Amino acid sequence: MTDAFLPALAGIVDDAGLVTDRARMASYLTDWRGVFTGDALAVVRPRTTDEVARVVQACAHHGVAIVPQGGNTGLAAGATPLGLERAIVLALERMRAIRTLDREGFTIGVDAGCVLADVQRAAEEAGRLFPLALAAEGSAQIGGLIATNAGGTAVLRYGSMRALVLGLEAVLPDGRVVDGLRALRKDNAGYDWKQLFVGSEGTLGVITAAVLRLFPRNRATATALVALDDLDAALALFGMLQDALGETLAACELFSERCLELQLAHAPQRERPLPRHPWYLLIEAGSSLPGLRDALEAALAEALEREIAAEAVLAESSAQRDALWLWRESITESERREGASAKHDVSVALSSIPAFVREATSAVEASFAGARVLAFGHVGDGNVHFNVLLPPDGSASSEEINALVHGIVRRFRGSITAEHGIGRYRRDELSSHRSESELSLMRAIKTAVDPDGRMNPGALF
Ligand SMILES: Cc1cc2nc3c(=O)[nH]c(=O)nc-3n(C[C@H](O)[C@H](O)[C@H](O)COP(=O)(O)OP(=O)(O)OC[C@H]3O[C@@H](n4cnc5c(N)ncnc54)[C@H](O)[C@@H]3O)c2cc1C
Repeated sequence: MTDAFLPALAGIVDDAGLVTDRARMASYLTDWRGVFTGDALAVVRPRTTDEVARVVQACAHHGVAIVPQGGNTGLAAGATPLGLERAIVLALERMRAIRTLDREGFTIGVDAGCVLADVQRAAEEAGRLFPLALAAEGSAQIGGLIATNAGGTAVLRYGSMRALVLGLEAVLPDGRVVDGLRALRKDNAGYDWKQLFVGSEGTLGVITAAVLRLFPRNRATATALVALDDLDAALALFGMLQDALGETLAACELFSERCLELQLAHAPQRERPLPRHPWYLLIEAGSSLPGLRDALEAALAEALEREIAAEAVLAESSAQRDALWLWRESITESERREGASAKHDVSVALSSIPAFVREATSAVEASFAGARVLAFGHVGDGNVHFNVLLPPDGSASSEEINALVHGIVRRFRGSITAEHGIGRYRRDELSSHRSESELSLMRAIKTAVDPDGRMNPGALF
């Protein structure tokens, strides 16, 4: 069967579209963290929706599973073909055209393989803003961002990917193309099926294109880094800033002193931005109207006076803004360089963040000697990346730490994945965090759309 399968693929895509050389396949078979490595019959790199549809039909005919892959920056091993006997990796990287840009209508139509940074740039060149922003934006693709309902640093103001998708084109597991590439803001004609694909992690079909919302560009941006003595202050400051800055508040990113120290350890040439404090909040506001910087400065002055903030620095130039953002954006990279870690992408009710982080930190430190907590995240969204560097002596496993932390998340009625998804990394835990009725509804959707279970088996379910 495999003998006939690869020639069938070769009849659909060009030479560069079919990779079977093991060395060239390697980077597609390992996840971004380098923790999970799988195997596949081939990596297939189609150039058009029609090619995707024909590849998917060939897979259906030959009983081969499909693992869609975008930029391979996902943190849940959803794009890694683990433990699959007959599977291909379907990489969308050659489908990167900007199909349409409607400046007056504030929309952009793109192929699924478009890299996020390219979409941001195209919008900017047209005097518009595509607001989704995250540290992997130089590699993550629109299809992957939709399939994981990515969040990032601007969710507070613009919502996650779900709020940014107006239209979608997808290839179903039997090879049919569903064209929902509409640019409508209001549309109540039946089920909003495109939303099923948002956050589906490649388990329902292959996303091939999307129409996305654009926004007016911010003419003014004000960015500050604030040092805090405790987590309650972070919550208090967030409330103050919302009152003072309203909807112009676009980002409120938290990280601990240990996150900062780790970056200094891996990039000693960088200079500490503020004197040492337990916590830092990176704040950004954006607006088309003047007076923003003054408003942020006044709010921070009040926070310092009321001793909510311990120290603060305001960016005076775009270079300074970028430098401040780097302290938030390079945490994940320095964590990877430091070694193995147990990742937790949790969300709890906003007002529970201080209690959750305190309780989980004490529990981890009491139970696992040598484990180091790296807590950071999108505080305005109640989303904490509560990552734990494993003890260097190997005395604790990632699974043991996950079990402890996720048990605490359950007690707080939180979520074990706020933005990275379930994938294969958290699959076995899903059933403990969703009710039987929710799980059976999810399974019914999966079975209705993908009855043969060929789309990304092993991810999510
Ligand atoms: C440094 C760093 C920072 C990050 N920061 C954030 C953050 O702030 N917020 C956040 O939400 N995430 C973050 N992530 C996670 C990651 O960037 C996102 O999950 C992103 O959406 C993945 O996009 P991708 O194109 O790399 O997808 P991949 O990793 O290739 O795939 C992810 C999942 O989507 C599926 N998929 C991919 N393409 C398609 C398609 N065309 N059709 C159907 N299914 C598809 C895959 O099968 C897989 O299940 C970060 C990752 C890194 C490495």
